[in-house]
Amino acid sequence: MKTLIIKYGELALKKSNRGYFEKVLINNLKLNLTSFNEVDIRREHGRIFIEFDKYEFEEIIEKVNKVYGIVGFAKSIKIENSIDEMNEAAKNLVEEALTRKNYKTFKVVVNRANKAFKVKSPEIARLVGGYIYNAFEDLDVDVHNPDLIVKVEVRKQSYVYADEVKGLGGLPYGTGGKSMLLLSGGIDSPVAGWMMAKRGVVVEAVHYHTYPFTSKQSTEKVLKLAQIISNYTGEIKVHSINILEIYKTIQEKCPKKHFTIIGRRFMTMIAEKLAKQNGCISLITGENIAQVASQTMEGLNITNSSVSLPIFRPLIAFDKLDIIEIANKIDTYETSILPFEDCCTVFLPSRVEVRPNLDDVVKYEDVLDREKLINDALSTIKTYQITPETEIEF
Ligand code: ATP
Ligand code: MG
Repeated sequence: MKTLIIKYGELALKKSNRGYFEKVLINNLKLNLTSFNEVDIRREHGRIFIEFDKYEFEEIIEKVNKVYGIVGFAKSIKIENSIDEMNEAAKNLVEEALTRKNYKTFKVVVNRANKAFKVKSPEIARLVGGYIYNAFEDLDVDVHNPDLIVKVEVRKQSYVYADEVKGLGGLPYGTGGKSMLLLSGGIDSPVAGWMMAKRGVVVEAVHYHTYPFTSKQSTEKVLKLAQIISNYTGEIKVHSINILEIYKTIQEKCPKKHFTIIGRRFMTMIAEKLAKQNGCISLITGENIAQVASQTMEGLNITNSSVSLPIFRPLIAFDKLDIIEIANKIDTYETSILPFEDCCTVFLPSRVEVRPNLDDVVKYEDVLDREKLINDALSTIKTYQITPETEIEF
C-alpha cells in the first residue's frame, strides 16, 4: 500500500485547539482530493495518513502541496511488523531516494509506538541500518549528520520512509477568521491574500473596476487570479463593483493631488461595508511602504482612519523582488503581469500629494455625499463563486 505520511507540527503546539485544527485539516485534504475517489485519509498518533493504491504518489503530492497547515510529508511503504519486510521496504525507498539526490551518508531512526513488537528500537536501527549498508556500496553510516534519514515507525503495522519533503506550512484554511481582501489585478494583492489564507484566514475578495473605462478583461483577469488562489483555499467569493461614478465625482469636486488618497478611502469604506455584510472582521490589502501617495505612512494612516475594521497588510515590509518570488511560487505572477489596465491607472492624476494631511483630505471629502456614493457603487455588485473548475475566458 502506498502511504503519504503528513506532519503538521505547529498544530501540535496548540494543545486546547488541537482536535479542531486536525479536523479542519483533514476536511481540507478531503476537499482537495475529491477527484481521487479511492484514497483513505485518517489520523493516527499526531500524523495524517493518506493511503491509496490506484494513483501515483506524484498525483496526490501535487494536491497535498497546496494544502495549508502541512509541515512536511514523506512517501512511505506500509508493511507488516517484521524485520525482513522493513529491510526490503527501506532498500526500495533508499534506491528511489538515490535517483533523486546523490546521498552519501545515512542513518536509521526508529520510533516503536507498538511495544508488542519485541525487537527494541536500537536493535531495529542496527539491523535495518546494516542491511542498507550492505546493499549500497557508496552509502556510509553517519549517525551525527547524515544526508539521508531512513525512518521506521512501528505501529499496528510498520511504516518505512526515507527523505521527507517540506510542505506548504501555515495553518489549516478556515481556522483563522474571515477577511475581505481588496484584490486588484496587480502583483501584490493576490500574494497578500494567499499569505493571510496561509495563516488559516478565510478570504473573500472585492475588486473595483471603472467599466467601460476599464475592459471586461481586467475583471476576468482578477477572477483568474482568485481562481489560482482557490487551488489552495477551495471556493472563493469575489465581488466586483463599479466605482466609475465615485471616481468621476472625486475628479470633479476634489483637488487633483488628493484624488488617489480619497479614491483609496472610498475603496476601503466600501470594502468595510461589504465585509460587515458578509461576516468578515478585517480587511486585507497588498499595500507596502512605498513612495506612492497612498502608500507612505501618512497615506496609510489616512486610509486607516476611513474605517473602523483593522486593515491587514502582510506585505508591508517586503521588497518587490521578494513579493515577485512568492507570486511565481504560487503561480499568480504570469497572470498579474497581463496588460489589462487597473481602474486606478486610467484615472491617475499627474500630481500627487505624497505626504497628505488627514484634515485636508477629510475637508475635501466632506464635500461629497459619501453614503450615497458608497450605496450606489454597492448596487452595481456582481458576485462570483470561484473554484479551480470555474470557466474563465478572456
Ligand atoms: P497591487 O499589485 O496589489 O495592485 P500595487 O503595489 O500596484 O498593488 P496599488 O495599485 O496602489 O498598489 O494598490 C494597493 C492596494 O490597494 C492593492 O494591493 C489592493 O489591495 C488595493 N487595490 C488597488 N486597486 C484595487 C482595485 N481595483 N480593486 C480592489 N483593490 C484594489
Ligand atoms: Mg496596483
